[in-house]
Amino acid sequence: MLHNLFIGELAERLTKRQISSVELTRHLLSRIERLNPGLNVFITLTPERALKDAAAADARLAAGETGPLLGIPLIHKDIFCTDGVKTSCGSRMLDNFIAPYDATVVARLKGAGTVMLGKANMDEFAMGSSNETSYYGPVKNPWDTTKVPGGSSGGSAAATAARLAPFATGTDTGGSIRQPAALTGVTGLKPTYGRVSRYGMITFASSLDQAGVFARSASDAAAVLQVMAGFDPRDSTSIDAPVPDYSKALGTPLKGLKIGLLREFFEGLEPRNAALIEDALTVYTGLGAETREVSLPHLPLSVPTYYVVAPAECSSNLSRFDGVRFGHRCKDPKDLMDLYKRSRGEGFGAEVKRRIMTGTYVLSAGYFDAYYLKAQKARRMITDDFRTAFDKVDLVIGPTTPTPAFGLGAKINDPVLMYLNDIYTIGANLAGLPGVSIPCGFVDGLPMGLQLVGPHFAEAKLLNAAHQYQQATDWHRHAPRGYE
Ligand code: GLN
Repeated sequence: MLHNLFIGELAERLTKRQISSVELTRHLLSRIERLNPGLNVFITLTPERALKDAAAADARLAAGETGPLLGIPLIHKDIFCTDGVKTSCGSRMLDNFIAPYDATVVARLKGAGTVMLGKANMDEFAMGSSNETSYYGPVKNPWDTTKVPGGSSGGSAAATAARLAPFATGTDTGGSIRQPAALTGVTGLKPTYGRVSRYGMITFASSLDQAGVFARSASDAAAVLQVMAGFDPRDSTSIDAPVPDYSKALGTPLKGLKIGLLREFFEGLEPRNAALIEDALTVYTGLGAETREVSLPHLPLSVPTYYVVAPAECSSNLSRFDGVRFGHRCKDPKDLMDLYKRSRGEGFGAEVKRRIMTGTYVLSAGYFDAYYLKAQKARRMITDDFRTAFDKVDLVIGPTTPTPAFGLGAKINDPVLMYLNDIYTIGANLAGLPGVSIPCGFVDGLPMGLQLVGPHFAEAKLLNAAHQYQQATDWHRHAPRGYE
């Protein structure tokens, strides 16, 4: 069936005119109509826009144009501004916000001829690990609808796993691409900080946020990253460095590749999770890679460090939502202070408020040195640990998450327990490194992810290592029952 094909296979059929983009789009829209009610993947569906995009792609194809994403449907996380389309960031605050321009990621993918099916559900302002903080309700995991899909890009991950679109965009500030990719059994890539433009991507924590991709294979993710990556003068943290040919790098043999096993990742790891990682390492050594143990002594500080830095940045970034310029405004304010207080009080949910309060506290005059400054120092030590490790190895491998998908409601009332979900993913964000999560097996019938993290700008190496694994195994081909 069309929805099971990978991007490369779809592109080939589109180019050969065996299928049209309109036909493919209609197929996915009818699938969405049938399956989305059980998953709650979408905040906004854009079927008319999709059919228009598809017709435009078909016209380009008919004129002889080709392109790896020409005519391919996608879903955007609702954190990316989309011109003329509601962009809510999962919040009541932006429930009435129609973006007046496209994010660079959206513009580039549009230019490549993709077809936008809609905007994906997400944790409010990307704060969460389960998609339960969304104003639009939780997303269900297609592998078991009593379980969370992970977060914050839960809609994008669940949609890709349920084969509602061949790929989706996401953002990763502390794990929000890799963690939901792991819990839904898809491939999720978080590029190096600065590799993909943040222009038009609603900000959570400016020094950590990075856009990336959910797809069903590393080779599909490579095709998408090729379009998304590159310098953008409108983002001052975007890096002006050439973008390598990611797809071309996919054939590189792994012989001699040095894989680091992070001691800190394996300590206390649940035995069934550890066994899957061991199996994956056997595959890698079979492909000629070598493994050695490395240690990042400061990695255990990453969760507390992140939960100072990210809230600090969010408390500053979210001050723009004041009820005056755009977004939610309370009814009949008495005066300006009442307008601010009630607009923000009504517009933000509990987790966002918790982060703003924590962030304001750690930045306050009396506590800045004790918390924020300390956290910045710890962040530097974690970054230096990675640098030392990458002097010895090409990339590091470990689990993406401590457990498979957990039950809806199981952790939402215990923020610290929820925060610990990101224990393996946050280090890469603090150090600005690229990481990918790929499916590597099942625990209790639920998918688990293998995480690969590399040095800055090592996306080609990571994608190649992920691709070689996917050539040797078929975990990435498994579909949740009912969504085959
Ligand atoms: N779960 C983490 C948090 O809540 C990461 C979120 C993200 O990567 N956007 O902050």
